[in-house]
Amino acid sequence: MVFRLSSDLPPEAIELLRDFRLTVNRAVHAALDARVSSRNGISKLLYKGFREEHPGMYSQHLVSSFEVAAGILKNHRRRIREGRRCQVPFVKRLMMKAENQAYKLDCSEGIIDLPIRAGCHVRLKLVVSQYHRRYLNDESLSLGSLTVLPDRVIVAFRKEAPSPVAATSVLSLDTNEQSLDGIFVEGGQEGDAKCVQVEAAFPEVAVIQQRHHERRRRLQRRKAHDWRLARVLCRREGAREHHRIDYRLHGVANAVLEFAEHHKSAIVLEDLRGMRLNRSKDLNRRLSFWPRGKLHQIIEYKAAWKGIPVIKVDPWYSSRRCPICGRIPDSRMGTQAEFSCECGWHLDRHINASMNLLQTAISKGLEVAGGLRFSPGAFQHDVMMTLYEPAMAARSEPNGTSQIGTAT
Ligand SMILES: [Zn+2]
Repeated sequence: MVFRLSSDLPPEAIELLRDFRLTVNRAVHAALDARVSSRNGISKLLYKGFREEHPGMYSQHLVSSFEVAAGILKNHRRRIREGRRCQVPFVKRLMMKAENQAYKLDCSEGIIDLPIRAGCHVRLKLVVSQYHRRYLNDESLSLGSLTVLPDRVIVAFRKEAPSPVAATSVLSLDTNEQSLDGIFVEGGQEGDAKCVQVEAAFPEVAVIQQRHHERRRRLQRRKAHDWRLARVLCRREGAREHHRIDYRLHGVANAVLEFAEHHKSAIVLEDLRGMRLNRSKDLNRRLSFWPRGKLHQIIEYKAAWKGIPVIKVDPWYSSRRCPICGRIPDSRMGTQAEFSCECGWHLDRHINASMNLLQTAISKGLEVAGGLRFSPGAFQHDVMMTLYEPAMAARSEPNGTSQIGTAT
Protein backbone atom coordinates (compact mmCIF):
# COMPACT_ATOMS: atom_id res chain seq x y z
CA MET A 1 0.00 0.00 0.00
CA VAL A 2 1.41 3.37 -1.02
CA PHE A 3 1.35 6.29 1.42
CA ARG A 4 2.28 9.87 0.63
CA LEU A 5 4.28 11.70 3.27
CA SER A 6 2.72 14.78 4.83
CA SER A 7 6.06 16.62 4.73
CA ASP A 8 9.47 16.22 3.11
CA LEU A 9 11.79 13.55 4.41
CA PRO A 10 14.03 14.88 7.20
CA PRO A 11 17.72 15.25 6.26
CA GLU A 12 18.74 12.30 8.47
CA ALA A 13 16.42 10.05 6.49
CA ILE A 14 17.73 11.34 3.14
CA GLU A 15 21.22 10.57 4.42
CA LEU A 16 20.08 7.04 5.30
CA LEU A 17 18.59 6.55 1.83
CA ARG A 18 21.92 7.63 0.30
CA ASP A 19 23.87 5.23 2.50
CA PHE A 20 21.45 2.45 1.71
CA ARG A 21 21.75 3.00 -2.02
CA LEU A 22 25.53 3.05 -1.69
CA THR A 23 25.68 -0.23 0.23
CA VAL A 24 23.30 -1.88 -2.24
CA ASN A 25 25.42 -0.83 -5.21
CA ARG A 26 28.66 -1.82 -3.52
CA ALA A 27 27.18 -5.17 -2.53
CA VAL A 28 26.09 -5.82 -6.12
CA HIS A 29 29.59 -5.14 -7.41
CA ALA A 30 31.33 -7.19 -4.73
CA ALA A 31 28.91 -10.09 -5.18
CA LEU A 32 29.43 -10.12 -8.95
CA ASP A 33 33.21 -10.13 -8.44
CA ALA A 34 33.04 -12.94 -5.92
CA ARG A 35 30.35 -14.82 -7.86
CA VAL A 36 27.96 -15.14 -4.97
CA SER A 37 24.31 -14.29 -5.36
CA SER A 38 22.27 -15.42 -2.38
CA ARG A 39 21.48 -13.05 0.42
CA ASN A 40 23.28 -15.30 2.88
CA GLY A 41 26.30 -15.55 0.61
CA ILE A 42 26.51 -11.79 0.29
CA SER A 43 26.02 -11.38 4.01
CA LYS A 44 28.83 -13.80 4.84
CA LEU A 45 31.12 -12.13 2.37
CA LEU A 46 30.51 -8.50 3.22
CA TYR A 47 28.84 -8.02 6.57
CA LYS A 48 31.97 -7.65 8.66
CA GLY A 49 33.76 -5.27 6.33
CA PHE A 50 30.69 -3.12 5.71
CA ARG A 51 29.99 -2.97 9.44
CA GLU A 52 33.37 -1.33 9.94
CA GLU A 53 33.05 1.00 6.98
CA HIS A 54 29.52 2.15 7.82
CA PRO A 55 29.61 2.23 11.62
CA GLY A 56 26.66 4.60 11.74
CA MET A 57 24.24 2.34 9.90
CA TYR A 58 21.73 0.29 11.82
CA SER A 59 22.75 -3.34 11.27
CA GLN A 60 19.27 -4.48 10.22
CA HIS A 61 19.31 -1.90 7.44
CA LEU A 62 22.66 -3.26 6.31
CA VAL A 63 21.29 -6.80 6.11
CA SER A 64 18.25 -5.51 4.29
CA SER A 65 20.49 -3.81 1.71
CA PHE A 66 22.04 -7.22 1.02
CA GLU A 67 18.59 -8.58 0.43
CA VAL A 68 17.81 -5.83 -2.08
CA ALA A 69 21.16 -6.50 -3.78
CA ALA A 70 20.33 -10.21 -3.99
CA GLY A 71 17.02 -9.35 -5.64
CA ILE A 72 18.75 -7.14 -8.20
CA LEU A 73 21.28 -9.88 -8.95
CA LYS A 74 18.51 -12.39 -9.46
CA ASN A 75 16.94 -10.23 -12.15
CA HIS A 76 20.36 -9.61 -13.63
CA ARG A 77 21.06 -13.33 -13.91
CA ARG A 78 17.71 -13.89 -15.57
CA ARG A 79 18.42 -11.23 -18.17
CA ILE A 80 21.76 -12.88 -18.92
CA ARG A 81 20.11 -16.30 -19.17
CA GLU A 82 17.61 -14.92 -21.64
CA GLY A 83 20.47 -13.50 -23.67
CA ARG A 84 19.43 -9.90 -23.26
CA ARG A 85 21.94 -7.10 -23.45
CA CYS A 86 22.76 -5.83 -19.98
CA GLN A 87 25.31 -3.91 -17.99
CA VAL A 88 26.27 -4.24 -14.35
CA PRO A 89 23.07 -3.20 -12.58
CA PHE A 90 22.96 -0.34 -10.14
CA VAL A 91 20.30 1.53 -8.21
CA LYS A 92 19.87 5.08 -9.42
CA ARG A 93 16.91 6.23 -7.38
CA LEU A 94 17.15 7.02 -3.71
CA MET A 95 15.47 4.22 -1.78
CA MET A 96 15.65 1.95 1.20
CA LYS A 97 13.85 -1.10 2.43
CA ALA A 98 13.32 -2.25 6.00
CA GLU A 99 11.94 -5.53 7.30
CA ASN A 100 9.10 -5.46 9.77
CA GLN A 101 11.36 -5.80 12.84
CA ALA A 102 13.30 -2.72 11.75
CA TYR A 103 10.52 -0.13 11.96
CA LYS A 104 7.34 0.63 13.86
CA LEU A 105 4.04 1.80 12.48
CA ASP A 106 1.52 3.49 14.72
CA CYS A 107 -1.67 2.53 12.92
CA SER A 108 -4.02 4.92 14.71
CA GLU A 109 -1.80 7.98 14.21
CA GLY A 110 -0.33 6.95 10.87
CA ILE A 111 3.23 7.58 11.99
CA ILE A 112 6.25 5.47 11.08
CA ASP A 113 9.13 5.29 13.49
CA LEU A 114 12.28 4.52 11.55
CA PRO A 115 15.60 4.03 13.32
CA ILE A 116 18.57 5.68 11.58
CA ARG A 117 21.32 4.66 14.00
CA ALA A 118 21.68 4.09 17.71
CA GLY A 119 19.80 6.85 19.50
CA CYS A 120 18.53 8.50 16.33
CA HIS A 121 15.05 7.83 15.01
CA VAL A 122 12.92 9.76 12.56
CA ARG A 123 9.16 9.94 12.60
CA LEU A 124 7.41 10.01 9.25
CA LYS A 125 3.84 11.25 9.18
CA LEU A 126 1.74 9.54 6.52
CA VAL A 127 -1.20 10.96 4.65
CA VAL A 128 -4.01 8.53 5.53
CA SER A 129 -7.19 8.30 3.46
CA GLN A 130 -10.38 6.34 4.12
CA TYR A 131 -9.06 3.63 1.87
CA HIS A 132 -5.81 3.37 3.84
CA ARG A 133 -7.76 3.33 7.11
CA ARG A 134 -9.51 0.10 6.15
CA TYR A 135 -6.17 -1.66 6.03
CA LEU A 136 -4.62 0.09 9.03
CA ASN A 137 -7.61 -0.84 11.20
CA ASP A 138 -7.86 -4.43 9.97
CA GLU A 139 -6.61 -6.53 12.87
CA SER A 140 -6.21 -9.67 10.78
CA LEU A 141 -3.34 -8.01 8.88
CA SER A 142 0.25 -7.91 10.02
CA LEU A 143 3.05 -5.72 8.79
CA GLY A 144 5.54 -6.78 6.15
CA SER A 145 8.42 -4.82 4.73
CA LEU A 146 8.65 -1.05 4.38
CA THR A 147 10.08 0.70 1.32
CA VAL A 148 11.01 4.34 1.72
CA LEU A 149 11.29 6.63 -1.31
CA PRO A 150 11.92 10.38 -1.25
CA ASP A 151 8.25 11.28 -1.66
CA ARG A 152 6.35 8.22 -0.49
CA VAL A 153 6.56 4.99 1.45
CA ILE A 154 5.22 1.55 0.56
CA VAL A 155 4.01 -0.68 3.38
CA ALA A 156 3.44 -4.37 2.69
CA PHE A 157 0.62 -6.00 4.64
CA ARG A 158 0.46 -9.71 5.29
CA LYS A 159 -2.59 -11.80 5.78
CA GLU A 160 -3.04 -15.41 6.82
CA ALA A 161 -4.75 -17.10 3.90
CA PRO A 162 -8.38 -17.46 5.01
CA SER A 163 -9.74 -21.00 4.98
CA PRO A 164 -11.58 -21.46 1.71
CA VAL A 165 -15.30 -20.85 1.57
CA ALA A 166 -17.37 -24.04 1.17
CA ALA A 167 -18.72 -23.34 -2.29
CA THR A 168 -22.30 -24.18 -3.15
CA SER A 169 -22.22 -22.98 -6.74
CA VAL A 170 -19.79 -22.55 -9.61
CA LEU A 171 -18.83 -19.74 -11.91
CA SER A 172 -17.07 -21.16 -14.96
CA LEU A 173 -15.50 -18.49 -17.16
CA ASP A 174 -13.99 -18.60 -20.62
CA THR A 175 -11.52 -15.74 -21.17
CA ASN A 176 -11.88 -13.86 -24.44
CA GLU A 177 -10.43 -10.78 -25.98
CA GLN A 178 -13.24 -8.47 -24.94
CA SER A 179 -15.10 -10.38 -22.28
CA LEU A 180 -15.28 -13.16 -19.76
CA ASP A 181 -18.16 -15.40 -20.81
CA GLY A 182 -19.44 -18.34 -18.94
CA ILE A 183 -22.05 -20.04 -16.89
CA PHE A 184 -23.24 -19.89 -13.33
CA VAL A 185 -24.42 -23.20 -11.91
CA GLU A 186 -26.27 -23.54 -8.64
CA GLY A 187 -28.18 -26.33 -6.89
CA GLY A 188 -27.07 -29.95 -7.04
CA GLN A 189 -30.35 -31.83 -7.03
CA GLU A 190 -31.90 -32.98 -10.28
CA GLY A 191 -34.67 -30.73 -11.36
CA ASP A 192 -33.91 -27.57 -9.46
CA ALA A 193 -30.43 -27.03 -10.84
CA LYS A 194 -29.93 -23.57 -12.19
CA CYS A 195 -27.56 -22.96 -15.08
CA VAL A 196 -27.48 -19.53 -16.69
CA GLN A 197 -25.21 -17.46 -18.84
CA VAL A 198 -23.00 -14.80 -17.26
CA GLU A 199 -20.96 -12.13 -18.93
CA ALA A 200 -18.36 -9.54 -17.97
CA ALA A 201 -17.66 -7.41 -21.03
CA PHE A 202 -14.73 -5.01 -21.32
CA PRO A 203 -14.51 -3.97 -24.98
CA GLU A 204 -12.68 -0.77 -23.95
CA VAL A 205 -9.52 -2.70 -23.11
CA ALA A 206 -8.92 -3.62 -26.73
CA VAL A 207 -9.82 -0.10 -27.81
CA ILE A 208 -7.33 1.44 -25.41
CA GLN A 209 -4.63 -0.95 -26.49
CA GLN A 210 -5.23 -0.33 -30.15
CA ARG A 211 -5.17 3.42 -29.66
CA HIS A 212 -1.99 3.42 -27.63
CA HIS A 213 -0.34 1.07 -30.09
CA GLU A 214 -1.07 3.47 -32.92
CA ARG A 215 -0.02 6.46 -30.88
CA ARG A 216 3.32 4.87 -30.06
CA ARG A 217 3.94 4.04 -33.69
CA ARG A 218 3.14 7.60 -34.69
CA LEU A 219 5.44 8.97 -32.00
CA GLN A 220 8.29 6.81 -33.15
CA ARG A 221 7.89 7.99 -36.71
CA ARG A 222 7.62 11.63 -35.79
CA LYS A 223 10.51 11.64 -33.35
CA ALA A 224 12.72 9.40 -35.47
CA HIS A 225 15.46 12.06 -35.42
CA ASP A 226 15.68 11.97 -31.63
CA TRP A 227 15.51 8.46 -30.21
CA ARG A 228 16.01 9.65 -26.62
CA LEU A 229 12.94 11.81 -26.80
CA ALA A 230 11.04 9.06 -28.60
CA ARG A 231 11.94 6.65 -25.85
CA VAL A 232 10.83 9.00 -23.08
CA LEU A 233 7.53 9.74 -24.81
CA CYS A 234 6.86 6.09 -25.60
CA ARG A 235 7.50 5.11 -22.02
CA ARG A 236 5.11 7.75 -20.84
CA GLU A 237 2.50 6.45 -23.27
CA GLY A 238 3.14 2.94 -22.01
CA ALA A 239 2.65 3.97 -18.39
CA ARG A 240 -0.62 5.69 -19.25
CA GLU A 241 -1.89 2.68 -21.13
CA HIS A 242 -0.89 0.44 -18.27
CA HIS A 243 -2.81 2.54 -15.73
CA ARG A 244 -5.95 2.71 -17.80
CA ILE A 245 -6.01 -1.00 -18.52
CA ASP A 246 -5.16 -2.00 -14.97
CA TYR A 247 -7.97 0.14 -13.70
CA ARG A 248 -10.46 -1.76 -15.84
CA LEU A 249 -9.07 -5.21 -15.15
CA HIS A 250 -9.41 -4.52 -11.43
CA GLY A 251 -12.99 -3.43 -12.02
CA VAL A 252 -13.76 -6.66 -13.86
CA ALA A 253 -12.06 -8.79 -11.21
CA ASN A 254 -13.88 -7.00 -8.38
CA ALA A 255 -17.24 -7.51 -10.06
CA VAL A 256 -16.60 -11.22 -10.64
CA LEU A 257 -15.44 -11.76 -7.07
CA GLU A 258 -18.28 -9.80 -5.55
CA PHE A 259 -20.68 -12.07 -7.42
CA ALA A 260 -18.76 -15.19 -6.38
CA GLU A 261 -18.65 -14.08 -2.75
CA HIS A 262 -22.35 -13.30 -2.68
CA HIS A 263 -23.33 -16.65 -4.24
CA LYS A 264 -20.62 -18.69 -2.49
CA SER A 265 -19.21 -19.79 -5.84
CA ALA A 266 -16.02 -21.53 -6.78
CA ILE A 267 -14.45 -20.07 -9.92
CA VAL A 268 -13.25 -22.18 -12.85
CA LEU A 269 -10.78 -20.61 -15.28
CA GLU A 270 -8.70 -21.99 -18.09
CA ASP A 271 -5.04 -22.56 -17.41
CA LEU A 272 -3.33 -20.27 -19.88
CA ARG A 273 0.15 -21.70 -19.54
CA GLY A 274 1.53 -23.22 -22.68
CA MET A 275 -1.22 -21.90 -24.91
CA ARG A 276 0.36 -21.09 -28.25
CA LEU A 277 -1.88 -22.10 -31.07
CA ASN A 278 -1.41 -21.47 -34.73
CA ARG A 279 -2.81 -18.06 -35.13
CA SER A 280 -2.15 -15.32 -37.55
CA LYS A 281 0.68 -12.98 -36.68
CA ASP A 282 -1.67 -10.12 -36.06
CA LEU A 283 -3.98 -12.06 -33.79
CA ASN A 284 -0.98 -13.34 -31.88
CA ARG A 285 0.23 -9.80 -31.36
CA ARG A 286 -3.11 -8.74 -30.01
CA LEU A 287 -3.48 -11.75 -27.78
CA SER A 288 -0.03 -11.35 -26.33
CA PHE A 289 -0.64 -7.67 -25.69
CA TRP A 290 -3.99 -8.31 -24.14
CA PRO A 291 -3.23 -9.23 -20.59
CA ARG A 292 -5.39 -12.31 -20.00
CA GLY A 293 -2.72 -13.65 -17.72
CA LYS A 294 -2.83 -10.37 -15.84
CA LEU A 295 -6.59 -10.58 -15.41
CA HIS A 296 -6.32 -14.15 -14.09
CA GLN A 297 -3.56 -13.08 -11.74
CA ILE A 298 -5.70 -10.30 -10.30
CA ILE A 299 -8.70 -12.62 -9.93
CA GLU A 300 -6.58 -15.28 -8.26
CA TYR A 301 -4.95 -13.09 -5.65
CA LYS A 302 -8.16 -11.29 -4.82
CA ALA A 303 -9.89 -14.66 -4.52
CA ALA A 304 -7.15 -15.93 -2.21
CA TRP A 305 -7.62 -12.80 -0.10
CA LYS A 306 -11.33 -13.57 0.28
CA GLY A 307 -11.00 -17.36 0.50
CA ILE A 308 -12.82 -18.03 -2.77
CA PRO A 309 -11.59 -21.24 -4.42
CA VAL A 310 -10.23 -20.89 -7.95
CA ILE A 311 -9.80 -24.01 -10.09
CA LYS A 312 -7.71 -23.87 -13.22
CA VAL A 313 -8.13 -26.47 -15.93
CA ASP A 314 -6.48 -27.38 -19.18
CA PRO A 315 -8.47 -25.64 -21.94
CA TRP A 316 -7.59 -28.32 -24.51
CA TYR A 317 -10.41 -28.46 -27.11
CA SER A 318 -12.69 -26.57 -24.77
CA SER A 319 -13.95 -24.39 -27.60
CA ARG A 320 -14.50 -27.26 -30.02
CA ARG A 321 -15.96 -30.10 -27.99
CA CYS A 322 -19.63 -30.87 -27.62
CA PRO A 323 -20.55 -31.03 -23.93
CA ILE A 324 -23.52 -33.34 -24.65
CA CYS A 325 -22.04 -36.13 -26.74
CA GLY A 326 -18.31 -35.40 -26.51
CA ARG A 327 -17.81 -35.19 -30.30
CA ILE A 328 -15.30 -32.76 -31.66
CA PRO A 329 -16.95 -31.55 -34.85
CA ASP A 330 -14.28 -31.37 -37.51
CA SER A 331 -15.20 -28.09 -39.09
CA ARG A 332 -13.59 -24.75 -39.51
CA MET A 333 -15.83 -22.91 -37.18
CA GLY A 334 -12.99 -21.06 -35.53
CA THR A 335 -14.57 -17.71 -36.20
CA GLN A 336 -18.25 -18.59 -36.03
CA ALA A 337 -20.16 -17.19 -33.10
CA GLU A 338 -22.13 -20.37 -32.57
CA PHE A 339 -21.01 -23.88 -31.77
CA SER A 340 -23.16 -26.60 -33.27
CA CYS A 341 -22.92 -30.36 -33.22
CA GLU A 342 -24.44 -33.23 -35.21
CA CYS A 343 -26.36 -34.29 -32.12
CA GLY A 344 -28.38 -31.13 -32.33
CA TRP A 345 -26.66 -29.17 -29.57
CA HIS A 346 -25.87 -25.58 -30.40
CA LEU A 347 -24.75 -22.71 -28.23
CA ASP A 348 -22.69 -19.53 -28.26
CA ARG A 349 -19.08 -20.59 -28.82
CA HIS A 350 -17.72 -18.92 -25.67
CA ILE A 351 -20.47 -20.19 -23.39
CA ASN A 352 -19.93 -23.66 -24.80
CA ALA A 353 -16.23 -23.38 -23.99
CA SER A 354 -17.00 -22.46 -20.39
CA MET A 355 -19.26 -25.55 -20.09
CA ASN A 356 -16.40 -27.70 -21.26
CA LEU A 357 -14.09 -26.10 -18.73
CA LEU A 358 -16.53 -26.95 -15.97
CA GLN A 359 -16.95 -30.52 -17.24
CA THR A 360 -13.18 -30.93 -17.32
CA ALA A 361 -12.94 -29.64 -13.76
CA ILE A 362 -15.59 -32.10 -12.59
CA SER A 363 -14.22 -35.06 -14.55
CA LYS A 364 -10.73 -34.52 -13.21
CA GLY A 365 -12.22 -35.11 -9.77
CA LEU A 366 -11.31 -31.61 -8.69
CA GLU A 367 -13.29 -30.53 -5.70
CA VAL A 368 -15.91 -28.29 -7.28
CA ALA A 369 -18.57 -27.03 -4.92
CA GLY A 370 -19.03 -30.26 -2.91
CA GLY A 371 -20.74 -32.72 -5.22
CA LEU A 372 -22.41 -30.20 -7.47
CA ARG A 373 -24.25 -31.94 -10.30
CA PHE A 374 -24.11 -30.36 -13.68
CA SER A 375 -25.88 -31.24 -16.88
CA PRO A 376 -25.65 -28.98 -19.92
CA GLY A 377 -29.30 -29.72 -20.61
CA ALA A 378 -30.32 -27.56 -17.65
CA PHE A 379 -28.95 -24.48 -19.38
CA GLN A 380 -31.52 -21.71 -19.59
CA HIS A 381 -31.01 -20.12 -22.97
CA ASP A 382 -33.09 -17.05 -22.27
CA VAL A 383 -31.43 -15.80 -19.08
CA MET A 384 -28.26 -13.78 -18.87
CA MET A 385 -26.60 -12.25 -15.82
CA THR A 386 -24.27 -9.32 -16.34
CA LEU A 387 -21.33 -9.26 -13.96
CA TYR A 388 -19.61 -6.24 -15.44
CA GLU A 389 -20.14 -3.85 -18.30
CA PRO A 390 -18.19 -0.83 -19.54
CA ALA A 391 -20.66 1.58 -18.00
CA MET A 392 -19.46 0.37 -14.61
CA ALA A 393 -16.06 1.96 -15.15
CA ALA A 394 -16.51 5.45 -13.77
CA ARG A 395 -14.22 7.09 -16.28
CA SER A 396 -15.50 6.59 -19.78
CA GLU A 397 -13.34 6.51 -22.86
CA PRO A 398 -13.65 9.48 -25.17
CA ASN A 399 -14.67 8.29 -28.65
CA GLY A 400 -14.43 4.78 -27.29
CA THR A 401 -17.27 3.02 -29.04
CA SER A 402 -16.59 4.24 -32.53
CA GLN A 403 -13.32 2.30 -32.69
CA ILE A 404 -14.42 -1.09 -31.51
CA GLY A 405 -14.86 -2.16 -35.11
CA THR A 406 -11.25 -1.48 -36.06
CA ALA A 407 -9.90 -3.17 -32.96
CA THR A 408 -11.66 -6.46 -33.55
ZN1 LIG B 1 -22.95 -33.27 -29.73
